[in-house]
Amino acid sequence: MKKISLLGATGSIGQQTLDVIEQHPDQLQLVAMSLGENITLGREIIRKFSPKLVSVKSRETFEILRNEFESDIQFVYGDEGLIEVATFEESTIVLNSVVGSVGLLPTLKAIEAKKTIALANKETLVTAGHLVMDAAKRNGVDILPVDSEHSAIFQCLQGENEKNVDKIILTASGGSFRDRTREELEGVSIEDALNHPNWSMGAKITIDSATMMNKGLEVIEAHWLFNLPYEKIEVLLHKESIIHSMVEFQDSSVIAQLGTPDMKVPIQYAFSYPDRLPMSASKDRLKLWEIGKLHFSKPDFDRFRCLGLAFHAGKTGGTLPTVLNAANEEAVAGFLSGKISFLEIEEMIEETMEKHQTIQNPSLDIIQQVDKETRAYVRELVEKK
Ligand code: MG
Repeated sequence: MKKISLLGATGSIGQQTLDVIEQHPDQLQLVAMSLGENITLGREIIRKFSPKLVSVKSRETFEILRNEFESDIQFVYGDEGLIEVATFEESTIVLNSVVGSVGLLPTLKAIEAKKTIALANKETLVTAGHLVMDAAKRNGVDILPVDSEHSAIFQCLQGENEKNVDKIILTASGGSFRDRTREELEGVSIEDALNHPNWSMGAKITIDSATMMNKGLEVIEAHWLFNLPYEKIEVLLHKESIIHSMVEFQDSSVIAQLGTPDMKVPIQYAFSYPDRLPMSASKDRLKLWEIGKLHFSKPDFDRFRCLGLAFHAGKTGGTLPTVLNAANEEAVAGFLSGKISFLEIEEMIEETMEKHQTIQNPSLDIIQQVDKETRAYVRELVEKK
């Protein structure tokens, strides 16, 4: 039995994780969880899965739920609560699906507590990849990717020797606006941006897909997970999202992982690894004869400027990826609240990165400080608009 701590239970990945757990009651058990604002959904989950520990965002929600449920469920709250869930003694694996760099500290604490990490919170590796991978190595902890592209690469690498890898090829759907010209991106609405053609995901990641910052963050994530220089990481547009990513080896052989776009597959693989479990998928299995054709093209770095910014931040290293990520989180929040336009997202990120003096090999304190300062700076830019 794998005992699971789930961070971000009410989000999109959290929901799909609970579906996976429900399908395998003999192998998987939810023992601890955190939830955000959605208390109604949170209640349903608590009733259905009876976790032993639940962390909520605010003290108010904590008081409400504590009075509602039996005393055998322990409630905690706030940043401390998140860490308690991440380090809950009984759990062996922590699935971190919170959105944003707020996921960093719980990940680090879970690693120190020797939990296996199933990582769906890509901002963790973007903002402090060197600290996370170093801590994982020191503690002998596996970091298993829950992003579909990274799970694909991870699966392609099973039984392979790292030294034989020539490059990895991350596929990208191109997001909601993949067929629009740059001019056509002026003044697009929040609703249009949230309408992803292939994947059903949370709001932040759907906007990140539309700007292609999501792929940029994934490039940095891949750099850390697979210990590869940026020169060996390529992005390929593939609008059907059937090939989830590929690895090219030095003998020119290319191995790809395919499937219908369904996040339950990478979630379940992280839980079952190195084994596999049956999947009663919510979507039909892959029928290539029905799809008929798959399409590929190179990304246009002028059209998708965020992708270039992410490569630049990754190659520069130090605190610049922290700035890229924090600026993006705040700019996307500004767009989602209707304060800035779609194209202003990338403008603000670029401006913020240009202003920043990169500090190499930053400590956790420095990263947290840069994250905070960047957010304040971008929030000010947003308010001025
Ligand atoms: Mg992905």
